[in-house]
Amino acid sequence: MLLDTFGRRAVDLRVSLTDRCNLRCTYCMPEEGMQWLGKTDLLTDEEIVRLVGLAVRDLGVREVRFTGGEPLLRPGVVGIVRACAELEPRPELSITTNGIGLARTADALREAGLDRVNVSLDTLDPETFFRLSRRRRLPDVLAGLAAAEAAGLTPVKLNAVLMRGLNDHEAADLLAWSLEHGYELRFIEQMPLDAQHGWTRSGMITAEEILERLSARFTLTPEPAAARGAAPAERWLVDGGPQRVGVIASVTRPFCRDCDRTRLTADGQVRNCLFAREETDLRGALRAGASDAELGALWRAAMWGKKAGAGIDNPEFLQPERPMSAIGG
Ligand code: SAM
Ligand code: SF4
Repeated sequence: MLLDTFGRRAVDLRVSLTDRCNLRCTYCMPEEGMQWLGKTDLLTDEEIVRLVGLAVRDLGVREVRFTGGEPLLRPGVVGIVRACAELEPRPELSITTNGIGLARTADALREAGLDRVNVSLDTLDPETFFRLSRRRRLPDVLAGLAAAEAAGLTPVKLNAVLMRGLNDHEAADLLAWSLEHGYELRFIEQMPLDAQHGWTRSGMITAEEILERLSARFTLTPEPAAARGAAPAERWLVDGGPQRVGVIASVTRPFCRDCDRTRLTADGQVRNCLFAREETDLRGALRAGASDAELGALWRAAMWGKKAGAGIDNPEFLQPERPMSAIGG
């Protein structure tokens, strides 16, 4: 098992398939100048499957989510999903994506064994989408969402980050649209994980502000805390339910005490937290011929050292060196 000194057990593995992306969301990356990992830095498809296999067989991981960067840019993504779906015990498999590649891949991913998708959608307005992501790809995202639903990758969940003065006026519209389409929407507080280190506390739209904006149009009833488990989103029934909306308040209401995550970067580093300042190199050990038992011991030791909390809202907080797109969001 992957335990830490605070008694938490990591059962949910996030695997980054690439640090590259076809968008440039302003809260994530600068327009230009990103330093991408080299081809030989990246784990191969076989190396990823070996490490995921070790995690589910020997380390108690039950859920695997592929992310990035944009995971659908990885040529071998369908094969990786297929191989992971054949593992024993079979983990639950999902992907977090900007949705652009889904129209092309949703059927193949479903057939390979993918269970669900989370699609990031911050706005329904093409011009705002362009200002936010610096690319004119909103129609591709919407086509991707429809393809995911048609392929049965359900329930489709949506992630939205609100930015002050850019798309924060759209909170209620996004929720109305999601309800209409049967998608479950979750708002994520903007975190200091952008490559250009441009995050400010005052620029962030807090969970409280998000709820205020939603409450102007909808009646929100909190779901009992017990229903949340280790899920980062706090959820509310909308207009009496059954549909819900979630808010992931990583900054103002952190959920570190219940965190059950472990992370593997595209270049084979284990991170015990999004905000960790240390990584454990599994790729080097793996390529030097380490056995599964040796790799498992390294992974366990990495998790054992997990800190109590990320402390983003503390004055002494230091942003990690690597941005979200390189860690795997
Ligand atoms: N490219 C995929 C996507 O956008 O869904 C997967 C990777 S992305 C890093 C994963 C999630 O992190 C997305 O929902 C994105 O909106 C979110 N994200 C990126 N930068 C963020 C930040 N600074 N604060 C909060 N969420 C962020
Ligand atoms: Fe790409 Fe996702 Fe980052 Fe946007 S949030 S730039 S889609 S990795």
